[in-house]
Amino acid sequence: NHATSAALGRIAPSRTNAMTDRAIDLRAAGRDIISLSVGEPDFPTPPHVIAAAKAALDGGQTRYTAVPGTLALREAAALHFQRDLGLAVPPSQVIVTAGGKQAIFEALLATLDPGDEVLIPSPWWVSYPEIVRFAGASVVDLPTQASGGFRITPDQLASAITPATRWLLLNSPGNPTGATYPATELRALGEVLRRFPRVLVLSDDIYAPLRYGGGAHATFAVECPDLADRVLTVSGVSKSHAMTGFRIGVSAGPEWLIKAMAKLQSHNSGNPCSIAQAAATAALAGPQEFLADWRERFRARRDKVVAAINAIPGLSTPVPDGAFYCMIDAAPLMERFGDDEALALHLLEHGVAVVAASAFGGAQGFRISFAADDAVLDEALRRIAAALA
Ligand code: PLP
Repeated sequence: NHATSAALGRIAPSRTNAMTDRAIDLRAAGRDIISLSVGEPDFPTPPHVIAAAKAALDGGQTRYTAVPGTLALREAAALHFQRDLGLAVPPSQVIVTAGGKQAIFEALLATLDPGDEVLIPSPWWVSYPEIVRFAGASVVDLPTQASGGFRITPDQLASAITPATRWLLLNSPGNPTGATYPATELRALGEVLRRFPRVLVLSDDIYAPLRYGGGAHATFAVECPDLADRVLTVSGVSKSHAMTGFRIGVSAGPEWLIKAMAKLQSHNSGNPCSIAQAAATAALAGPQEFLADWRERFRARRDKVVAAINAIPGLSTPVPDGAFYCMIDAAPLMERFGDDEALALHLLEHGVAVVAASAFGGAQGFRISFAADDAVLDEALRRIAAALA
């Protein structure tokens, strides 16, 4: 009997992974495909991080650790939250997970009941709505537009909240839009949330070190400290330190929530990989100087991609403030292609893998990642222009 659960039936596989897998298959079949569908930096993991992983292996750090992570990594994470987000937390309010993804999964599964509603600004990161549905709760879409900086407004938030609302998911800088909330806007959202004590806030700040506008990063728990007892701040090393394969995320939140997440984690993955934890400790507590160079290179690529895309008839994109994606509007091409899925397939036929906007709860466009080598980006942009000419 191959029947799967009702919960599984409510979710779909990740469409970003699906597009990446398709590109890999086409390449294996001998096709020349450039993948701009994947969300990871192309830079090599910093050498001191690799050295720390090797030292952990040689030093016998090959056994179980505490379920919520080693004290050394929770201390390094606390340092990261203070240094990079301005958020002061003790290590007891930090949990280490197998990627930021696991933290989000655990926080939502540990708190949602059937009938609960979760507010998700769209375009959203693909996993948010799937996790919510898996938990048996329902997704409430808060649509945003390029003209509004892909950010929700306090009025929009206030009119979406019902007695069933349990979470607001905030992602700044955002995937797939790069949208970044300034401190004043976070405080204005906090003003609304103060009236609704049942609503928790998930602040996904995993791209915080990758911002191009200058100035300090603003995060919800810092801007609204009186609400900190209901805020989970998610971060990690995947994006900032080019460590996607290590699978380490770090989150800070109130003790009740961190404990609830650890309880769930104790029965699924247990502790995150001990070797990866040692590497992440070096990443978060070690030198951060390399990041300035990465940021500069990402910024230059962003500027190049934005200019090239906006020069292609039918395509337009705002300038993303952070992360390494462009959410491209292709509405003028919909008459020609039908929908954004068909457009993405057309681009794939022309040798570039992108992800249709509908995968992110958007429409009539597609996302590309600019975390690719300059020469690769140049060729991809040439192919996109040729495909649409
Ligand atoms: N949050 C956002 C917005 C992301 O884009 C990603 C990765 O794509 C994650 C969380 C999770 O990253 P990881 O599980 O690799 O740490």
